[in-house]
Amino acid sequence: MDALVLFAALFVSVAVGFALGRLSRRHLQSQYPKDYALNYYKGLSYLFNEQPDSAIDAFIGSLEVNSDTLETHLALGNMLRRRGEVTKAIKIHQNLLARPGLNTRQQHESQLELARDYIKSGLLDRAEALLLELVKISSAYKQAALEHLIEIYQDENEWDNAISAASQLDGKHYRPKSGLGLKQLQAHFACEQAQEDMAQRNFSKARTHLQEALGFDSDSARASLLFARLEIHQSRFREALDHLHKIPQQDADYLIEALDMICECYEKIGEPKALQKYLRSLLAEYPSNSLVIKIAERLRWLENDYVAADFIAEQLKQRPSIRTLNRLVELHLPHSEGRAKENLQLLKQLVDRVIEEKPSYCCNKCGFTGNSLHWLCPGCKTWGSVRPIRGVAGE
Ligand SMILES: [Zn+2]
Repeated sequence: MDALVLFAALFVSVAVGFALGRLSRRHLQSQYPKDYALNYYKGLSYLFNEQPDSAIDAFIGSLEVNSDTLETHLALGNMLRRRGEVTKAIKIHQNLLARPGLNTRQQHESQLELARDYIKSGLLDRAEALLLELVKISSAYKQAALEHLIEIYQDENEWDNAISAASQLDGKHYRPKSGLGLKQLQAHFACEQAQEDMAQRNFSKARTHLQEALGFDSDSARASLLFARLEIHQSRFREALDHLHKIPQQDADYLIEALDMICECYEKIGEPKALQKYLRSLLAEYPSNSLVIKIAERLRWLENDYVAADFIAEQLKQRPSIRTLNRLVELHLPHSEGRAKENLQLLKQLVDRVIEEKPSYCCNKCGFTGNSLHWLCPGCKTWGSVRPIRGVAGE
């Protein structure tokens, strides 16, 4: 049924293009090649006999390529690509490029569409070659070509090339799907480089890339998190704290990613009271369940289970949370016995199961969910859209 709808649309598109082509050549009607009409009716026959490949070949042959019919060809090709019929879309766009009769801008438009077909079909090397050429030769399609090149370099983890392509974009006309500015995008690319450097233990190179990331976007919470991790690795705990202290103002959603490092740094510099004071100030301004649990952990360590449990119980009245409730049960378990202990264990098993089934992160663009933080959403390829889930079951 889908195929029938597609090819009915194809038929209408070609029929319109065919009619326009005829009208524009009314004065030459007697010279109009008979082959076009023949192929057109042959295409219809294939269509009604449900032979889509033959129908497309016939339609390509039936419609002359020129300025009047270009839009029809492009519309057919793009419709096929959107429907996943990429091989047929490639055939249509290659046919356009092979024909004389188009002006330079129209050839460039066809080349861009063919590159999009190649991207969709995973032929990234071919797409890259077409797009790099367009960047050099086409001022009209340079911006679109660069945006597609960035997509390719992201997929291939070629971050130097991604930064270079982004630096050639015209920021005024850049309309990213994520809403991120060009500088924020480049900061993510530099952070990707720094992460790779750190994985290869090349810490001086990682430092350079993180400085570049903050140069692109001084509000990059991701760069601050990575910088803190780098400083901790090199036992520079006060310097790490300088980066961690910036995160609440940069992007408070990522504060929970910093909590473990914040605690480690304050402990290493021997300032546990300053840590408790800082965590309390964060809770007042940026409340989250992770923060409640972290403060309770500190209270348990500094005082005892009962003080920690009282703190959690008080917080639960203000912010109901499954995870915080679970922590409260865990604190009471060692001090209970008999039937009360059995009931608490049963309650904990149930809460554990609920927590296991609930994802911790969600993309605010496409709804992708998971239990780890992705800076680039695997679902919609948007940077910085995956965030901690808030509410009773989340943060
Ligand atoms: Zn997404």
